[in-house]
Amino acid sequence: MDDPDPPDPPGGARPPRAEALAAMLAAIDDDFARTAADTGLAAMPAPVRAAIAAVPRHRFVPAQAQARAYENRPLPIGHGQTISQPFIVALMTALLELQPQDRVLEIGSGCGYQAAVLAQEAAQVDSVEIVPELAERAAATLAGLGLARVRVHKGDGHAGWPAGAPYDKIIATAAAPTLPPAWVAQLAAGGRLVAPIGEREGLQTLVLLRKNPRGELQQQRTIAVRFVPLTGGAG
Ligand code: SAH
Repeated sequence: MDDPDPPDPPGGARPPRAEALAAMLAAIDDDFARTAADTGLAAMPAPVRAAIAAVPRHRFVPAQAQARAYENRPLPIGHGQTISQPFIVALMTALLELQPQDRVLEIGSGCGYQAAVLAQEAAQVDSVEIVPELAERAAATLAGLGLARVRVHKGDGHAGWPAGAPYDKIIATAAAPTLPPAWVAQLAAGGRLVAPIGEREGLQTLVLLRKNPRGELQQQRTIAVRFVPLTGGAG
């Protein structure tokens, strides 16, 4: 009765979950088209589409939200936190331009969905989560899907994850008023960092920071976003 992952019903019809996923991908396509001028991305890149299609979002969503698991919206996951909107997950993944050998740091595991998407395209993902219960649940969900490339760590992501630095790519899924220096320090030369920067309550700007091979930084603003605030540490 409480099976979080009931099988699709047998029969000739296309399974409802495949239809819901197709509709979600179409909605993400629309959002990419709508925001192209601000993101510099004309469409969802094929590897990102494949990664989104490969991750069963319903496995990351609590029982009471199962019916909405494939809507292109954020959903509550408990502890006052949310699973990010699929378009935002796809956009942030696209902005990182992941390579198969990449080692990635995520700040804010939440349910682990973004980490699972990252793991489709990268060699290793270290994800730091400040709420212990969420970290444990995310680790269990990811392990249940066989995603051993993701390691979930309990801790305050303001400090990044020094033990694993430097990282080729860094992504933050909670909003900081300014970019924490530890993240920039832990970004490898040639690396990319994507984070929502700005007001803790309200809108932030999704920022792409590039560190060139000489260590010089270049920052690009993309779209307005609304993330939960980074807690702990300096805040
Ligand atoms: N990545 C998630 C969305 C996470 S929501 C997804 O795939 O849907 C933001 C998460 O950041 C929350 O789980 C919150 O608990 C966590 N968080 C907030 N402040 C943090 C901090 N200082 N360090 C690590 N995680 C933090």
